Amino acid sequence: MGDMRKDYVLEREVIVHPTTKKNTNTKKCPYCPGNESMTNPSLLALVAKDGMLQRLQDSEDFFVDDWSVRVFESKEPTVSISTKNSYSDRPLYSEPAYGYHYIVVVSPKHKDTLATISTDHIHTKRSHICNYFR
Ligand SMILES: [Zn+2]
Repeated sequence: MGDMRKDYVLEREVIVHPTTKKNTNTKKCPYCPGNESMTNPSLLALVAKDGMLQRLQDSEDFFVDDWSVRVFESKEPTVSISTKNSYSDRPLYSEPAYGYHYIVVVSPKHKDTLATISTDHIHTKRSHICNYFR
């Protein structure tokens, strides 16, 4: 879990994630369809069906197929709601980073970028995601 620290140059708070061991399996992308088991179960998977978006979610033994957007908790969260009280002033100010860390995969296509995804797709899915987490 990360720490909230003060950036004394820019005079703002930043979240610093500790360096962790990277996944060495680089052949499989955990965010691509078919590899859902590499991530935490989705809390929300949007599936287009009959011209509408269905809000589904994974269970322990079932992963949603044909999703267009998938939201799940990070396996290596930078922030957490179960933080320990570890405040420090030395060498620099630091406090626990509190919050939720979700990953939103906005396209099932590995090569998509924000530049290649339509603004309609992003806008429509964004409103569904925001409504789900309210
Ligand atoms: Zn991918």
